[in-house]
Amino acid sequence: MTIDDGRSRDRGGPGEGGSMPRRSTSRDIERYGALFAQRTRGMKSSAMRDMMAITQRPEVISFAGGLPDTSAFPAQTFAAIAQGIAAESCARALQYGPTDGLAEVKECIREVMAADGSPMPDPEDVLVTTGGQQGLDLITKALVDPGDVVIAEAPTYPGAVPTFCAYQTDVVHVDVDSDGMRIDLLEETLERLEAEGRRPKFIYTIPNFQNPSGVTLSLPRRKRLVEVARERELLVLEDNPYSLLRFEGESLPSLYSLDGGRYVMYLGTFSKIFSPGIRLGWVVAPPPILEKLNLGKQGADLCTSTLSQLMVHAYFRQARWRDYVAASVELYRERRDAMLAALEEFFPPEAEWTRPAGGLFIWCTLPDYIDTTDLLARALRENVAFVPGEGAYLDGRGRSSMRLNFSVSNEDEIREGIRRIGKVIDEQVALYGTLTGRRAEAAPRREEPAEPEQGARVVPLPRRDAAEQRAERS
Ligand code: PMP
Repeated sequence: MTIDDGRSRDRGGPGEGGSMPRRSTSRDIERYGALFAQRTRGMKSSAMRDMMAITQRPEVISFAGGLPDTSAFPAQTFAAIAQGIAAESCARALQYGPTDGLAEVKECIREVMAADGSPMPDPEDVLVTTGGQQGLDLITKALVDPGDVVIAEAPTYPGAVPTFCAYQTDVVHVDVDSDGMRIDLLEETLERLEAEGRRPKFIYTIPNFQNPSGVTLSLPRRKRLVEVARERELLVLEDNPYSLLRFEGESLPSLYSLDGGRYVMYLGTFSKIFSPGIRLGWVVAPPPILEKLNLGKQGADLCTSTLSQLMVHAYFRQARWRDYVAASVELYRERRDAMLAALEEFFPPEAEWTRPAGGLFIWCTLPDYIDTTDLLARALRENVAFVPGEGAYLDGRGRSSMRLNFSVSNEDEIREGIRRIGKVIDEQVALYGTLTGRRAEAAPRREEPAEPEQGARVVPLPRRDAAEQRAERS
């Protein structure tokens, strides 16, 4: 096989240095086809990353990313951190470090976990990673053989989709409702799998202000989940980027703290409390697992950036990191409220959405006949973006849902962006009415927008069919 990589022809296209990743044509793929490993066949792109290029256009109001608002970070703090490192530890910052991470960063990690009410892990049980994302990747790499089952919430973190696909994981979903993962359904699923002779490698959950649905796992369900893990000797992966971004209510104990770290692996990150750009996260896991993750990390990147680690350490020493988290919480609460108010004002009555008590996302479900991937194409023409719900499922569901991020846009942008999405939804509703004769016009606006009530229109997720709901009520 000869490889002509086509560079001479393609240079100048939207590839290197351009804003869009270069798309391979089917001819390109054929040219390289014989070289690819089997596992690449199932590889999938994450719904958000696909859209990064489009949503970075300044005219687009994007609710698609999962970004914290780094523009609120004080530049003078950043400068002081960088200067401190230059003066005190320049040579070290430019050097490789140990694979498991710097001891002083593990102290910062212990501080963050304590702030969340979790027991402080032994530094030996911590692996510092290149973002929480790498932790997810290393855990899947260490535990999953092709075809192995992992249980994940439905919907689940869209960024976990490429990871699970890359390791040819058979993801079995368990639905969430407004109290998080349905543990009754989890137990049914485990029974069914056992009857089939299949044992999941781990149960993946985001218990606080879940990405993408915004819902939080209730305390009774947390307790039961930990019991189930013990009774069945199953590992749980608790992915916890958002617990410190709580807008209201009491914080709940982590699964890690309820379990004492026996069956629960904990995944943390500095991305949402400091910066995603520094790419720093961590895993706490039982030592035999951590050893395998360490080997996997050696093959992946040798060690996490020493510079990033020293930045986190300097930040924790020099600045009041909790104050910045508190300021972010204030900001995001206002933006969440602005988005909820705009949804009330501009979305039709058939739409349902969650009312998260923290985090970065609202999950909205539209009538079944609206496909949010198609809707996104129309929304982009109006210069507004969201993540279509399909990207949060591995079984093809979620087609009439969308994930809306409220943390990076200001209140005016939020109102305007939701107005634009509402407009394209109205067009779809009207078109459906015309085609089916069921509804001549878009539904009338609700009269009273303003303050949404606590818990108002918090919906079971995903939409269950009407018969099932009737049966449950009777
Ligand atoms: N898990 C979840 C649930 C997330 O939402 C994110 C980031 N959006 C990550 C993991 C990865 O975060 P990072 O790699 O920036 O730590």
